[in-house]
Amino acid sequence: MENNSIVLMQRYELGRLLGQGTFGKVYYARSAISNQSVAIKTIDKSKIVKSGQAERIKREISVMRLVRHPNIIQLYEVMATKSKIYFVIEYAKGGELFDKVSKGKLKEELAHKYFQQLVNAVDFCHSRGVYHRDIKPENLLLDENENLKVSDFGLSALADSKRQDCLLHTPCGTPAYVAPEVLRRKGYDGAKADVWSCGVVLFVLLAGYLPFHDSNLIEMYRKIGRAEYKFPNWFSPEVRKLLSKILNPDPEARISIDKIKEHYWYKKGPNARQKKPVVENNSVSPSGSIPFDQCNESDNTTAETNEESFVPTSINAFDIICRSAGFDLSRYFENSFHKREERFSSRQPASVIISKLEEIAKWLRLKINKKEAGLLKLVSRKEGKKGILSIDAEIFEVTPCFHLVELKKSNGDTLEFQKVLKEDIRPALQDIVWVWQDDQQEPSEQPQQQLQTHEQQQEQS
Ligand code: ATP
Ligand code: MG
Repeated sequence: MENNSIVLMQRYELGRLLGQGTFGKVYYARSAISNQSVAIKTIDKSKIVKSGQAERIKREISVMRLVRHPNIIQLYEVMATKSKIYFVIEYAKGGELFDKVSKGKLKEELAHKYFQQLVNAVDFCHSRGVYHRDIKPENLLLDENENLKVSDFGLSALADSKRQDCLLHTPCGTPAYVAPEVLRRKGYDGAKADVWSCGVVLFVLLAGYLPFHDSNLIEMYRKIGRAEYKFPNWFSPEVRKLLSKILNPDPEARISIDKIKEHYWYKKGPNARQKKPVVENNSVSPSGSIPFDQCNESDNTTAETNEESFVPTSINAFDIICRSAGFDLSRYFENSFHKREERFSSRQPASVIISKLEEIAKWLRLKINKKEAGLLKLVSRKEGKKGILSIDAEIFEVTPCFHLVELKKSNGDTLEFQKVLKEDIRPALQDIVWVWQDDQQEPSEQPQQQLQTHEQQQEQS
């Protein structure tokens, strides 16, 4: 190690530089406690603040905890100092996939394996409401067994602010992997945009070069916008069919991940008649992963039939991050007594959560002033120190049987809010709460312990 005298937070020995990203550097490191190899991604807070994305990035961090998959670089913990944020992540020993491609195109069989792994990872994240939006070579890494690991899932805000940067100034990265609708900078569907990027990746793996390329950026945008590309003559008819469906400039008409997974080439690969696909065991099965795995179908149906008039906001996991627990960095900067909102996750269907909130409102003699998609406004009948206390309870659906609920003071005195929450509401919610955000361990405490606890939690669930 070059810098083995540097020990970060007394816990990680920093080693060699692995790479440089837009927002900071990535180092190899080793845990001083367990000796485990990790990568540490450093991000300059000032760069994020400049890009005006600080809040969103904070939010996005904790969702990464929700996505655990064999083909996704895992986030172990997040640490912060005044000027920097450190992401401690799984180390991908094999480096970038595209170092391989730069040496020449891959055999169809190998490209097929990586494509399956990529699609599995992306599909898994989408099922949790997480969109990558920055799938590109630098974010596709390999582990020591030559398996694909997608990095930076959940950091889409970084991708976004960088992209804005790209459009304003020029020579920052290439938009080669970005879907046309994203370049048009209108609202877009993160899932469809990721599908496009997966298609570009597949093309590059098989061709050894980019489908859309031009030294003139404007020209390149034009090509992407019209999906102007040519297949090299060695592309098989099956893979051509699949790619034409993926690289469709109209996101509405573009093939979905489900349909990709049903596609002949995806399923069978190039050697369909001789042998099975290379990666069969890599279907979406993160061992003992997050609670949604145990989604109870019958709960879903009840939730849906009873709740026609009260549909919880479908949460994009990028919104979750601030609401979800664990890596909310605000705890480093805020005094929790002044908190104006509390969040918990629940494994109950929305109908149960709503009835519970209504029951509590009744018991506390709070009026329910508003009931609309995913939102209940609970309002006190008496004047408090700073006006009438009003609490918004907002329910976000992650999956039909996994919700995040935010209780937020929308009017009145914060201390009164804290008191009623602590003394009445929290205890009354006990049987529907899975985890309160606060009850998660501080990320800066003993990382290995934290990991174990999290692991144990998962095993139990
Ligand atoms: P961006 O700023 O858009 O994320 P990037 O992906 O190039 O760009 P980083 O994510 O900061 O930037 O990563 C920089 C480089 O560090 C990567 O290209 C990769 O080579 C290396 N790297 C990143 N994460 C890991 C990891 N977990 N294990 C090994 N190497 C990594
Ligand atoms: Mg990256």
